[in-house]
Amino acid sequence: TIGLLALDEHGNLSGSCTTSGMAYKMRGRVGDSPIIGAGLFVDNEIGAACATGMGEAIIRVAGSAIVVEFMRNGMSPQDACKAAVDRIVAKHDNLENLQVGFIALNKNGEAGAYSVYSGFNYALKDKTQEELIDAK
Ligand code: ASP
Repeated sequence: TIGLLALDEHGNLSGSCTTSGMAYKMRGRVGDSPIIGAGLFVDNEIGAACATGMGEAIIRVAGSAIVVEFMRNGMSPQDACKAAVDRIVAKHDNLENLQVGFIALNKNGEAGAYSVYSGFNYALKDKTQEELIDAK
């Protein structure tokens, strides 16, 4: 997945995501990316989130939507991403092939990310910085 979250100069949030799906996927499989609330969710009052990884696990918890709900309840984007990952991890006995991650951005322009395993990087750009960060 390539996910993109943005906050413009007027304070409006937006987001998008794209995916090639999973390797060896079943014909007709729909992953999380095209499902609003799973692969992507934007609430212009609160924040935005995008997911990557095993779509089936993300869909089951409405992953990007719960990241935004965690932010609505006061969590930082970073903590919200971790809480969503923790929710998914708690539902799985075998984590061997369970890579899932989220990025999030809130209305104040604070960003965060978290994934089950390290290796997901995200780029963060604002007026003062341009950096690549490991999500874990
Ligand atoms: N989340 C995608 C899917 O399950 C895979 C990815 O691009 O990370 O289809």
